[in-house]
Order: sequence, then C-alpha cells, then structure tokens
Amino acid sequence: MSSHTHASPFDEWLTGDPEVRALLGAEAERQSTTVQLIASENFTSTAVLAATGSVLTNKYAEGYPGRRYYGGNQVIDEVEDLARDRLTALFGGEHANVQPHAGSNANLAAYQALLKPGDTVLAMRLDHGGHLTHGSPASITSKVWNFVSYGVSPATDDPDKPGELIDFDQVSDLARTHRPALIVAGSTAYARIIDPLPFREIADSVGARFMFDAAHPAGLIAGGAHPSPVGVADVVTFTTHKTLRGPRGGAILCSAELAKAIDSAIFPGLQGGPLENVIAGKAVAFAEAARPEFRSYAAQVVANARALAYAVAAEGIRLVSGGTENHQVLCDLRTFDAELTGKEAQEVLDRAGITCNRNTIPDDPRSPFVTSGLRLGSAAQTTTGMGEAEMARIGALIGRTLRERSDDAAVAAVRAEIRELCLAFPPYPDLDGA
Ligand SMILES: *Cc1c(COP(=O)(O)O)cnc(C)c1O
Repeated sequence: MSSHTHASPFDEWLTGDPEVRALLGAEAERQSTTVQLIASENFTSTAVLAATGSVLTNKYAEGYPGRRYYGGNQVIDEVEDLARDRLTALFGGEHANVQPHAGSNANLAAYQALLKPGDTVLAMRLDHGGHLTHGSPASITSKVWNFVSYGVSPATDDPDKPGELIDFDQVSDLARTHRPALIVAGSTAYARIIDPLPFREIADSVGARFMFDAAHPAGLIAGGAHPSPVGVADVVTFTTHKTLRGPRGGAILCSAELAKAIDSAIFPGLQGGPLENVIAGKAVAFAEAARPEFRSYAAQVVANARALAYAVAAEGIRLVSGGTENHQVLCDLRTFDAELTGKEAQEVLDRAGITCNRNTIPDDPRSPFVTSGLRLGSAAQTTTGMGEAEMARIGALIGRTLRERSDDAAVAAVRAEIRELCLAFPPYPDLDGA
C-alpha cells in the first residue's frame, strides 16, 4: 500500500518532540484517509487552526474587554471584541459571549443565569435525542435543577406521516402541568428542522423563559438553511465546532437585558481565564460563516445528508423520522438485520474506514452503550468538497460493510475504496506536502 503521509499543520515546529509529532501525523493521516461521518465534527479552515495555535494561548484575561483582572490585555480586548461583533453581525442578537470553553459550559451558564437551584426545566429526553446537559442523571444539571422531559411522537407505518417528530402537544401538556421556569429546545440526535416559534408560544403561555441550544444546527442557521432562533429565544447557546466549522468551543447570544447575568455566569460563575487563542479562532470562523460561500456550504450539507439518507435507506436501513432536513441521518438498524447492534455496526464501519457513532433510536430496546442505531453526519465531508454522488457511494459502502461484516477481506476491500475516495478530497490540500 502507498504510504501517503499527511503531515499535521505546522509539523516542522514539532521536530523537537518526535512523540507528539508522530501522533499528530498519525491523526492527520486518519482524518485524510477515512470518511468522517460523526455528525458533531467538521474540518476547520487552516486560518482557524493558525489562530487557535497562536501566541494568544499565553495570555491571562479573566474578565471581559475593558474590565480585565490582569494587565497587558489591550490586544486581547480587541480580539474578543472582534469575535463578539462578528458573532452578533452573523446571527443578530444584542449581546454575545464568546468565552464558553464548550457547548456544555454555555448551557450551564445559561441555566445559572436564568434559574435558581431546584427550578424546573422542560427539555428533550436523552433517549429521544436530548443532550447530557438537558438533565441526564449523569450530568450535574439533573442534580441542581429539576428536569422534566418531552420526546418525539411514536413511529408510524404511514410513509407520508412517519412520526418521530417533536411532540408539541406533549411539550404543551407538560408545560401546563409542571410550570417550568425554562423550556429548552435543541437536540444532539434529531434529523429535522427545529422550529423555535411553537416553543416560544408554549413558553409564553406558561410564563417560562425559552433557551434554544443550537449546538448542532448553528452553521445551518448561519448559512440560511434553517430558521434562526435568535430574537425568538431568550438565550441561544451553541458550539462553534459542529456545523459552524470553527474551533472547539461554545458561545452564547442573548438580549441586552440578560447580558450581565450571562456574562457573570460564565465568569466568575463557571470558568476562570478564557482561551483567547480559541476566541481568535472563533472570530475567524464567524467571518468565514458570513461569506456567501458558507450559504452554499450549508445548503450542500443538507443536500448531502439527504443523498446519504437515500442511499442507506436503499440498503434496507430504516430512517428515524423517515428522512432528514439537516446534516444528520439517524439509522434504525433493526430493519436491516435484527441481530446487528449499533455497537457492532460502529466497530465494523471503523475497520472499513467509515467513522460514525452508534446512537439510541427513540424507545430503543437496547442499552445506550449497545443501541440499535447509528448516527451519520454530512458536515465534515461536505467541507472537503464531497457531493451527493460521493454520499451515495458511501451509503452503498455502509450497506456492503454491514452485510459482509464477518468477511475480513470484504471489509478490507471497502477500506481500500474509502481510502482512494478520501485521497481525492483532502481536508487540507494546501498543507499536504506531496
Ligand atoms: C454537542 C452538544 C452540546 C455540548 O457540546 P460540548 O462542546 O461537547 O460540550 C450541547 N448541546 C447539544 C444539543 C449538543 O449536541
């Protein structure tokens, strides 16, 4: 086999640490020669990588622009102001906080700003697609606040009304019964558009605040492919590294009225010094997402997910909710092979060079560690330039791998084909010194 080496960016700076250099090279190679279908991942631009790997990592900047607890923050203040201004320009919204180290921290800060300990929150069930920070027993969120959960409607046999959509009657009933202080919209495994308006109406009808966790669709919203919750929800939290294609981190948008509560919930409430190198990377990504090309990107992400969904459905895999309107494809493997678990599927696909994750499907009979489903995502490979034809091919290769999973030679043949495909779509073409 040819030994293409995909150097990691800035590789020459690591000659003094051959161990880390080798690991980064190995990971660059993996990212360049296997298909990345994890719905929460993406490839940043080299500009984002450069900003994230910059001297800004050296600076302590507790506080906010103009109100820092350390000296020497003249430039840092400009960096963070630029990121905040670009974020409000991108989405609208009166106030931006770009300091959350992750999406989870953004959510914790929003809860802290809007709630008292013990308050009731209505959010999506974890096994129907909600996130850990939406009240999982394993998360601190469930220990501090009282979570009540809504889910999706049951699946049906009617192809025109497949079900498994957010059940707004249930949201409304639960809101009336439990009188939550906060209603949370947003999901980690849901292949449909989440319309913020019905949530706003229900929240208003019971006097609750409304938070939209846009961790997954943030890039689709920025690119105009999904409706924006900014200006509808009281607080919008999101990650910067999923469809938004920035560095790993979080951000928050809110009204001017909530600005102070949100800012003090992040610092000093939850975090110490901000990662200003990552904030510079966020600023770069926000400017990239404001360009016309990003609108085409967001539309292509959705078209690619649809092509992938179509292809896996043609292999006999059932699509949860019957299809997709975003970057995700949720697969129910039980129709394909009643014996095949999500865990086994993930493992064999990994061996075939197809990286994805097992996922619970609504009312999954198997445990969250095993599952009956797979979650696929189109955001990362769309960044590399793959289109619907490549997605159709990958969908067919997923079917072949799962069918022939006990045949090592067949799995190896898929891996070789995937490698060939990926080499034609390098994530960092300008960095691959051939
Ligand atoms: C990914 C995700 C988060 C948290 O993001 P991290 O950066 O991993 O902490 C929060 N909410 C939802 C819905 C997510 O999908």
